[in-house]
Amino acid sequence: MTELKNEKRYIYFKGEIMPEEDAKISILSPAVQYGVNVFAGIRCYFNKEFNQLYAFRLEDHVERLLNSAKILRFNLDQKINFEYIKYNLLKVIKANDFREDIYVRITLLLDGRGNWSSTEPIELIISPFPKARAFVDKDGITACITTWERINDKTLPPRVKAGGNYLNSRLGQLEATSNGYDSAIFLNQEGKVAEGPGSCLFVIRKDKIITPPVTASILESITRQSVITITSNILNIDVIERPIDRTELYIADEMFLCGTAIEITPVLCIDKIYVNNKIVGRITNKLRDIYFQIVRNTSTANLPNEWLSPIY
Ligand code: PMP
Repeated sequence: MTELKNEKRYIYFKGEIMPEEDAKISILSPAVQYGVNVFAGIRCYFNKEFNQLYAFRLEDHVERLLNSAKILRFNLDQKINFEYIKYNLLKVIKANDFREDIYVRITLLLDGRGNWSSTEPIELIISPFPKARAFVDKDGITACITTWERINDKTLPPRVKAGGNYLNSRLGQLEATSNGYDSAIFLNQEGKVAEGPGSCLFVIRKDKIITPPVTASILESITRQSVITITSNILNIDVIERPIDRTELYIADEMFLCGTAIEITPVLCIDKIYVNNKIVGRITNKLRDIYFQIVRNTSTANLPNEWLSPIY
């Protein structure tokens, strides 16, 4: 597995490209002590035919990163904007000369010796590393409804992609794996379906594609947005954004989780109830097929490629 290779990797930190092990932050920083950071996770897909690596929806990821920093009142250096981040992201990937699928973690963290309410100094890290496709060895996954409730906009906003939010994800995921499931699905404070620990959820019932709205205590997922665009523009099916009950999952014809890391992953069993007899459904299959053609720019059908930023 490429992810385990222990080769020298270069990252961007404090205005420089440097070996990953040389980047240092204070052990007393609020980032270390209280988990004060926001981050983005972007996949770049390698196309062998064109010898090209494409970052998928870079601009949208950076916009969400900067919005997360804004909500948490990070006092960012004026120069930290989309152009600056893109410039350094290209530079650091080129320094590593990756010619395979990778994932890029961009982090804004609170360094220095302040506390959890400090607003500076904020440091930027851009760290690319090889990453294989999600769940390649399985057709789909099993999930359960976790007993942990999803965080919400009145306490810890799920719209913010902050490291601290993932303690909630951690509780749900570890409960699920310790009970033998691959993943968890959270309900929100209204008892409606929210999202997975690191993914959003879609169900298909009688050819209708349904997903919780962005006000249902979810991250405003970029893959969710891509799925909505692909289904309406290419499959000609409109996605319905509405609250979803837990029991609707039990009678869904198809269900999948989506996210940058998990991509489009079918859920074939929920709370030990099979979905479509554990067979990946027709719409999910089609959607996944189109998604992978778009992200890797391999389409022969002229699918849109404005979401791709070529690296080389
Ligand atoms: N929800 C949560 C909690 C996540 O961590 C992620 C992964 N970033 C997603 C949804 C999916 O978001 P995206 O499609 O932007 O990766």
